[in-house]
Amino acid sequence: MPLLDGNEKAYLKECLDTNWVSSAGPFIEKFEAALAAETGLAHAAATVNGTAALHLALLVAGVEPEDEVLVSDLTFIAPANAVTYVGAEPVFVDADPHSWQMDTDLVAKFLRDVCDRRDGGLVNRATGRRVTAILPVHILGHPVDMDPLMTLADEFGLAVIEDATESLGATNRGKPVGSSGDISCYSFNGNKLLTSGGGGMIASDNADWIEQSRHLSTQARSSSEEYIHDAVGFNYRLTNIQAALGLAQMERIADHIAAKKAIAAAYQKAFAEVPGLSFMPEADGVESTFWLSTVLVDKAAFGMGSRDLQAHLAELSIQTRPLWQPLHLSPPYAGSMFLGSGVADGLYVSALSLPSSCGLTRDQQERVIAEVIAAQQSGPRR
Ligand SMILES: *Cc1c(COP(=O)(O)O)cnc(C)c1O
Repeated sequence: MPLLDGNEKAYLKECLDTNWVSSAGPFIEKFEAALAAETGLAHAAATVNGTAALHLALLVAGVEPEDEVLVSDLTFIAPANAVTYVGAEPVFVDADPHSWQMDTDLVAKFLRDVCDRRDGGLVNRATGRRVTAILPVHILGHPVDMDPLMTLADEFGLAVIEDATESLGATNRGKPVGSSGDISCYSFNGNKLLTSGGGGMIASDNADWIEQSRHLSTQARSSSEEYIHDAVGFNYRLTNIQAALGLAQMERIADHIAAKKAIAAAYQKAFAEVPGLSFMPEADGVESTFWLSTVLVDKAAFGMGSRDLQAHLAELSIQTRPLWQPLHLSPPYAGSMFLGSGVADGLYVSALSLPSSCGLTRDQQERVIAEVIAAQQSGPRR
């Protein structure tokens, strides 16, 4: 449930009053500038959604058909699909059991033991394909520790595309999420920290890449007078109406993050003594936005598993969400290479995201907390 109590109405009215409702207009540039300022990146281009942003990022970063891209195994499916859209192949990297993010040690082992340097590039010996990029996903509001990943990317000459769609506003050792890699992507879908109805953004210090992204997102039209196109482009632009909503949301980002953090802190305090519940850890030097408050439910200690708790709360009209099926188990990616031992599988089985929307009232959260505790105390079942 989005929180829409800032300048949203005033800016939308301005769109209607001025007739700037479609894919051009002053709010688009303002929204882009606001995202650039927030992330500390020099350039940003708005897109129709976060998935389109990922598609464009892979294209301008030079990922080609048949290339391989290292992608987090435990994530929403969009980044893997974007890799597929460019004709490349994802190689899924298991989650680190401590951070739940892409396991950097597995990445290092793969690059050192399975890949060869050949013709100025890197080749996966097992498949014979070129490895050209890493796509870490900052999941659930928590930032990935980028430093070790960037060291590996530099050593092996790989592009780094950050999927920051779930974690705008988080920081890693003081650096905004998305500002460590070569290019980063954001989403303003209705379920994200900020929403523009639907929308996305691609941001980088590389002016050429952002210019190319903008060009590709407008059907690669090369003349403002004639309908002449220099490539196969896409219609991936954001409208001024969406940007108006997005800008109003961006103005309130600090309030949204504060609301998410307060919700997470209240759950952590309330569940500190409840057996069998543990939270996604916040690593040292990292500041999460706690986009979602996600717990692991230990079936033996809690008395029921995550899915039984989910069903029980649903009967009480309390909506919770499971994590994503790990991508190496996802039917469209059954044939993809997977590095790891099933850490993501374990997290998937045990995790549950609790109600975390910025608009959740104190009373509503108290009720969720009371019902979770009551479920635990009513003893084992099913
Ligand atoms: C939401 C999300 C996206 C895609 O964003 P859309 O705007 O919905 O296309 C990409 N990656 C991850 C990890 C997401 O959670």
